[in-house]
Amino acid sequence: MSVIYNAKVKVGKETLLIGFTGRNLWEAKRKAQELEYQDFTKCGCCGSDDIYLAAFLTKEKKYPYLKIVCRSCKGQLTFGENSETHDNYVRKDSNGNPAWEKFEGTQNTSSKPESKPEPEQAEDDLPF
Ligand SMILES: [Zn+2]
Repeated sequence: MSVIYNAKVKVGKETLLIGFTGRNLWEAKRKAQELEYQDFTKCGCCGSDDIYLAAFLTKEKKYPYLKIVCRSCKGQLTFGENSETHDNYVRKDSNGNPAWEKFEGTQNTSSKPESKPEPEQAEDDLPF
């Protein structure tokens, strides 16, 4: 037996209808509740409502992940995935708010968006 729980998730001006399946209602509802009832109406960086859900793959291991991206300032909110249940959830900052990240320079889709890439330095190019 399987159950589908349809959750409405608002992203910017759009409302997405997402069907979460589970072996029973409890399981389907548990998957849904990480995303429903959350306020994804505005960019956490600039306040624009011109935001959308986008699916990405990491460059290295082709690991799928989701982001909400702002068309105005390119700010982004990255989703994590629970390693046991594979449920998606929104990354939060230390205050429990969605962890929106400001766009900084070039787009970098590494597998660990939270770690900043180290600038490459030529060791053998010393100025003396
Ligand atoms: Zn923005």
